Amino acid sequence: MTERMAGPGDPLLHNEQKQTLQKELSHAGDLVFELQSRLTAFKALGPDNGGSGEQEKADFLEGWLRSAGVDDICHVDAPDSRVPSGRRPNLIVRIPGRSSRTLWILGHMDVVPAGEASLWTSDPWTVVRAPGDPDLIIGRGVEDNQQAVVCGCILAAALKKLDITPDLGLGLIFVSDEESGNTHGIHHIFREKPDLVREGDLVLVPDSGSEDGDFIEVAEKGILWLKVTVKGRQSHGSRPDDGKNALVAAAGMILGCAEMEHSFPERNALFSPARSTFTPTRHEANVPNINTMSGQEIFYIDCRVLPCYTLEEVIEAFRRLGKTKAERYGVEILVEPVMSEPAASPTPEDSTVVCSLKRAVREVLGRDCRCGGVGGSTVAVSFRGRGIPAAVWSRILENCHAPNESARISFALDDVKVYAHMLFTG
Ligand SMILES: [Zn+2]
Repeated sequence: MTERMAGPGDPLLHNEQKQTLQKELSHAGDLVFELQSRLTAFKALGPDNGGSGEQEKADFLEGWLRSAGVDDICHVDAPDSRVPSGRRPNLIVRIPGRSSRTLWILGHMDVVPAGEASLWTSDPWTVVRAPGDPDLIIGRGVEDNQQAVVCGCILAAALKKLDITPDLGLGLIFVSDEESGNTHGIHHIFREKPDLVREGDLVLVPDSGSEDGDFIEVAEKGILWLKVTVKGRQSHGSRPDDGKNALVAAAGMILGCAEMEHSFPERNALFSPARSTFTPTRHEANVPNINTMSGQEIFYIDCRVLPCYTLEEVIEAFRRLGKTKAERYGVEILVEPVMSEPAASPTPEDSTVVCSLKRAVREVLGRDCRCGGVGGSTVAVSFRGRGIPAAVWSRILENCHAPNESARISFALDDVKVYAHMLFTG
């Protein structure tokens, strides 16, 4: 024990501040619930998903942060005439630290549609606690990606409330358009502010993770979304010989997707699953009545490609498959990419952000993290593609995009305590 007084930069004060902050955060459970409830109600769907965008959600977040005393909030909004506000909001929120280095926490404000309504046990846009398990909350977006947004806000507000200046500055980047390709989100930010993230900064993307909080995602597969248009000839259902059944041809093409894995057989144990995947997903409505044979079908394929293959190779392979099936069924098949994001070099396991995150998780959760890759694309790939190491981590139930999407309030508190730990270097 020492008897001297603590002063600025003093290790005693430093430790005390860390502990005060951690204590404050561990009592933020009600705030997590409240913020999650408010955010879920905004139904922030991008126009590609049939929605009117993220503006109201962003306005609420900005208002909430300002009322908490956070006033360095910068807009890097992207024009988009498809939404009522004419823009897709992107917010950059900053709280300075003692050093010029910044811990950046990324969160996306957009969510995906609820999907089949009958699969939900409650209204997707109203957060409820699970019966008999008040720690578990259910609603669209609570995991993906509101947990990150909420945790970032709570941490910023706590720093202001306690008047704590951490070693690293805190930077929150809340983006739009993550679920539909990032053009109006992180890509727009990089176009407008290419030097935002500086050497020595840490970038954390809490948009994937594991239930135990022991998995750090350092690599992602290349992502490619293909649109397949099958053109046959419509006819009466009773006279199929008069037309060319586009639905049957589309079915042939869809079954061919499974075979595509044989054309790209490489395995990479860093990833889970370890192979490239080619998954038919969305199918557009065809004819409305049962007695008409469909003359045109449009469906989509979600491809997650190991870094050893180029996305161009995959597009070519699908075009060849389309040609084979077109000949077989006597139709026309057109394969077009609608979104592509090539794989970036993995974040090194000995990078500062991974080391800092590992230390924080060990301290807060008492666990040792392993590093690996996934197929799901996060904004981390945009950073890695620019040579900025980014780590993806959070403590989640891994049920994003599913009906009855849920998240644990206690996991959010673990996340925010880990972020807080990373703000202090000592
Ligand atoms: Zn997400």
